[in-house]
Formats: sequence, structure tokens, C-alpha cells
Amino acid sequence: MSASTKRGLVIAIDGPAGAGKSTLAARIARAHGYINIETGAMYRALALKAIRQDVSFDDGDALLRLAEASTIKLEPELERNRVLLDGENISERIREQDVTDAASRVSVHPGVREWMVARQREMGEAGGVVMEGRDIGTKVFPNADIKIFLDADPEVRGSRRFKQNPHVATEAHAVTQEMRERDERDRTRASSPLEAANDAIKIDSTHLSLDEVIAEAERIIARKK
Ligand code: C5P
Repeated sequence: MSASTKRGLVIAIDGPAGAGKSTLAARIARAHGYINIETGAMYRALALKAIRQDVSFDDGDALLRLAEASTIKLEPELERNRVLLDGENISERIREQDVTDAASRVSVHPGVREWMVARQREMGEAGGVVMEGRDIGTKVFPNADIKIFLDADPEVRGSRRFKQNPHVATEAHAVTQEMRERDERDRTRASSPLEAANDAIKIDSTHLSLDEVIAEAERIIARKK
């Protein structure tokens, strides 16, 4: 699709767990009339299906077959995506810890990633999209109009995540530890590891409020528009 027929920009937001990507993506999308796509929810959906069907998180071939036999739909909503797996609304279930752990393991397999990336390109190619994940600026849309890499110190990310889910029966430091492990797996996997694209603009939200992060992102978008 040529730039002139696109319905808007492709904005890529990448970064580690708990940096605030989903909230930022939702708020920017709303401000510009774009759709927000949470790619992590797709890995979570496949992970849930693997749990239910007792497919090993280490068996990349079986996981790819499972993905190919699945329909994973993301429906953009104001705050988050509504996630449908084979027509079932799994939006809440995929936020639970067992699915979080499984998603981190399922996402290391190159075949699974290729399948996910192909679906994500289909969803974003028309433009007018804020897509967030780990490899959007490096792999899914290397030619994205705007690339933001959102980061924060691990302790800050852990405590923000803990405050979001205080009912979960774990201590704040356990949440931080779990996130460090997921980040490590994301950063060190062979297939499209978590890293900032060379042309990504970094925002470190360690000492910033949500409104300050949004303002910074809007400045980046305004410069490119
Ligand atoms: O972003 P979220 O925490 O929901 O992602 C769940 C898991 O999916 C992450 O821990 C990461 O391993 C994986 N993921 C990925 N690539 C993406 C998005 C998520 O590998 N683009």
C-alpha cells in the first residue's frame, strides 16, 4: 500500500515487561483515532491453548501446528485489547501468572514467531495503528513511521506491575524477579530478541509520570508527522 493510500502512520512501541507500553499505546491510539494492537496478547493466547491441550512449551513444531489451527483475534478497545481465541473471550484469563510464564517460553520458537509476525503485519499494514511488543520496530515493521523504545529500571517496572495486580499472592520483589527472568529470556533468545531498533527513540520512564511519557511520545510523533 502506498503512503498516500495509508489511513495513518504505523507507530511501533517496544520495550521490556512493565514499562507501560500497553497504556501508552492505548492512549496514543485514542488521541489519533488509530487502533492499538497488543502483540503480547497473541503469544499469551497461544500459551493458553498450549496449557489447555497439554502441548510442551519446548516443542516448537507442535506449537506452530497449534498456532496454525487457531484463530487469535485482537479487538482494539479503549484501554486494552479484547482477545478472542477460537471465538472465546480470554482477555482476563491470559493475564494470570501461569499464562504469563508460558507466553515467555512459547515466544522463543522461530516458527511460532514467523507465524505471529505474519498475522501482525496483516493487522497493521493499512496504517493508522499503534502496535506494541518486543520486536515491532526491528522485525514486524522495520519501516515503521515512528519507533519508540520504552524502558524503565527493573525495580520501578516491578513495583508498577505489583500495584496493578495487588491481589496476586506474591510480594513486590517476587514480581520484579519474575519480570527480570522474562526480560532475560526475551533479550537473549536467538530469534528476534528484545532490543531497540537503531532508529528507535528511547524514552526512559523511570522518573516520569504517565502524562509525561505521553507528552514525550506526542513530541516524537509531532516531529515526524
Ligand atoms: O507484552 P506481554 O507481557 O503481554 O507479552 C507476553 C510475552 O510475549 C512476553 O514475555 C514476551 O516473551 C512475548 N512477546 C514477544 N514478542 C512480542 C510481544 C510479546 O516475544 N512482540
